[in-house]
Amino acid sequence: MEKGEKRINLILFGPPGSGKGTQAKMLEEKFDLLQISTGDLFRYELGNNTPLGKKARTYMDKGQLVPDEVTVAMLKNKLEMHPHVKGYIFDGFPRTIPQSEALDELLKERGESVDSLISLVVDEEEIVKRLLERGKTSGRKDDANEEVIRERISVYKSETSPVYDYYDKQKLSQQISGVGDISDINGRLNSLISSLA
Ligand code: AMP
Repeated sequence: MEKGEKRINLILFGPPGSGKGTQAKMLEEKFDLLQISTGDLFRYELGNNTPLGKKARTYMDKGQLVPDEVTVAMLKNKLEMHPHVKGYIFDGFPRTIPQSEALDELLKERGESVDSLISLVVDEEEIVKRLLERGKTSGRKDDANEEVIRERISVYKSETSPVYDYYDKQKLSQQISGVGDISDINGRLNSLISSLA
């Protein structure tokens, strides 16, 4: 990245199964940003059976959140490994208010901030349907069991949805529909993000 060039830091927000990962990958390429998915980072640790992976698994399998201090430490590490990118797309992070405060602090240390939180809106029954479908091929234990899916949605409502309001108070939150063609949703996101640059 060029000196003086403004970075862009986006949070892609929404319940599990709202399409954050799919869209983040498309945006990463188009806007030359780095996608940071804490779920993917945990699954990588889990796949390598590291102490962090073993710890995370106990929460992930139940559909609960990994504790904030563990998640924030992992995120901080990832940011430090990639300081020279044009910006970040946070996918599945922050998921609690303390995580939001930690992210703001980490960005502030670099003279930066969150530019926008974009929420993909999808209703609950559609999400359950999508996740059960994804579970047939994703190999993810937490997608295969309806009870765990419902728990993840309940955790989203109680612990994660306040993150939307947290950034809304700073006039940074926006919503778009996460239903329909992947390319149409991507088109909506592209124009929104282009208007930020
Ligand atoms: P995801 O792939 O984003 O659906 O995340 C899968 C699971 O990883 C979640 O159900 C949590 O157990 C864990 N996880 C991912 N991101 C976070 C986060 N920001 N805070 C706490 N736990 C997380």
